[in-house]
Amino acid sequence: MADPEALEMALKKHAGEVACVIIEPIPANNGLLLQNTGFLQFLREKTREYGVLLIFDEVISGFRVGFEGAAGLYGVEPDILTFGKIIGGGMPVGAYAASREIMENVAPVGPVYQAGTLSANPVAMAAGFATLTELLKPGFYESLEAKTAAFTARLQDFCDQKGYEVTFPHVGSIFWPTFTRKVIHRSDEIDGSRMDYFKKMHLECLRRGVYFGPSGYEVGFISSAHTDSDLDFAAGMICESLQQVFEP
Ligand SMILES: *Cc1c(COP(=O)(O)O)cnc(C)c1O
Repeated sequence: MADPEALEMALKKHAGEVACVIIEPIPANNGLLLQNTGFLQFLREKTREYGVLLIFDEVISGFRVGFEGAAGLYGVEPDILTFGKIIGGGMPVGAYAASREIMENVAPVGPVYQAGTLSANPVAMAAGFATLTELLKPGFYESLEAKTAAFTARLQDFCDQKGYEVTFPHVGSIFWPTFTRKVIHRSDEIDGSRMDYFKKMHLECLRRGVYFGPSGYEVGFISSAHTDSDLDFAAGMICESLQQVFEP
C-alpha cells in the first residue's frame, strides 16, 4: 500500500537493519493495482538515502509492459530485478539481474552460493532467447499495447453504454476485469462480494469458448499470438456474457 510517511518512518526507525525493499512495481498478482509513479520514485529516493536495496519483482510486469518492464516504463531504476514466466518463452526459467557490483557477490565470483539443477538449461535458454528476440522487433510493444487498448476500450464502451459497474484497467498487455466503477489501487479496496459477478461472467464466457483465469483476482494478458479476429470474437463473447450476467 502506497503510504510514503509509513515507509519513511519504518526506514528511519530501522536504519541500518533493513536489507531491501521488494515490491511488484505493477502489482498484478491480486488484481491489477495501478500505482502512481510518484510513489515508486519516492521509494527509489528513500531506499537510496537509507542505503537499502530496492528490488522490483517483475515476474508478471517484465516484458509485458515493454522490453524494460515497469522499471523502463516508469523510468525508475531498482537495484535488483526478478523475472520469470515470459522470460522463458514458455519454458521454466527464472532470472534475476543487478549491477555488476551486486552480481559479483554471487558464485563463482563472490561468496553467495546459488545454483539449481536446471539452471541455464539449454532448451529453456534457447526458448527464452528466441522469445526475447521476437520482443525486440520494431513495433512489437506498440502493436501489443494498441491491441490491448482497443480490446479493453470496446469492453469498457459496452459496459458504459449499458450502465454495468465494470471497469477494465490495463497497462501494456495486462488487463483486469473488475466489477466496480472505482479505481482500485490497494488489495483491501477490492470488494470480495462483487466476485460473484466475475464467477457468473467466467461461466458464461466458458460456454462461449472464452477462457478467463478461474478467479476474479487474476489478470488477463493479450499476446502477440492473438489475431484481430481472435480479439474481435473474444470481445463479442465477453459482451454477450456480461449482458447475461446483468440482464439474465
Ligand atoms: C509467478 C510469480 C512469482 C513466482 O515465480 P516462480 O517462477 O513460480 O517462482 C513471483 N512473483 C510474481 C509477481 C509472480 O506472479
